[in-house]
Amino acid sequence: MTTRIPGLHHVTAISGPAQANVAFYTGPLQQRLVKKTVNFDDPGTYHLYYGDPKGSPGTILTFFPFAYAGPGRAGPGMASAYAYAVPAKDFDATVDRLTAAGITVPRFAERFGARVAILRDPDNAPVELIEDAAATDAHGFHSVTLWERDPDRTARLITDVFGYETLGSEAQGGIERLRLKAPGEARANIIDIIRTNADVPGRPGAGTIHHIAFRARSQDEQDGWIETLARAGHRTTPVIDRQYFNAIYFREPGGVLFEIATDPPGFAVDEPEATMGQKLMLPPRYEPLRDRIEQALPPLRVAS
Ligand code: ZN
Repeated sequence: MTTRIPGLHHVTAISGPAQANVAFYTGPLQQRLVKKTVNFDDPGTYHLYYGDPKGSPGTILTFFPFAYAGPGRAGPGMASAYAYAVPAKDFDATVDRLTAAGITVPRFAERFGARVAILRDPDNAPVELIEDAAATDAHGFHSVTLWERDPDRTARLITDVFGYETLGSEAQGGIERLRLKAPGEARANIIDIIRTNADVPGRPGAGTIHHIAFRARSQDEQDGWIETLARAGHRTTPVIDRQYFNAIYFREPGGVLFEIATDPPGFAVDEPEATMGQKLMLPPRYEPLRDRIEQALPPLRVAS
């Protein structure tokens, strides 16, 4: 049986102070805060999840906000941008709405025949909005861009092992962009890989992407990926329980941290879907420390 990766599950990035991050993504970007929890490896900091109203795979952008994170910079071996798919008919209105909210769109581009608005979040992370005739709302990802010194090795992993197809490549302003697509999927189905001559080393920090996660539809599929990846020479971590999904991680050949996350159980596993994101949710092992954890975290105001 050949299983294919059906697209992205989530993208995880690092931000500065949490309030500015929440205000931007739940305000002008109109995403829902679907989970307010802590970094399971460091419960003194938040882990914030944004997505569509249900918290569907392929819409989830997560942040580790560190109040004192220094500014980071994308470079080779890092994911360098995430893009939301915006229904083509809403593209102009979306840009107008952002401008009216005081968010300037400093750059527009055209890629593979579609318009792209490139803006920056409060920590300078590159957020892209790409017009997409297939998109029905502005919650789902269109793509993630990986910046690679040698795109070929990474592309081979994503095509030969994950089952993506090559859509083509185009060059613009000294940047060569290769586009890969998960066949038959409606959203979050594209990975772009860029190669540029500008060889500035990246630096992790606020405004950079920590890792990208691909979907496994079930635990069986994820178990299968551990074996398939091992056969292809990629050793993964054991399965790690992230409460809302199970995760395995490995570094792809170019250095980007890849995760494969299960669709189940999803974000309604520990609170009702209607009120997701309002209360601080903790995994059972941190529940005894709730008072101390809540006191250490800054209060958050979600844009209505
Ligand atoms: Zn993750």
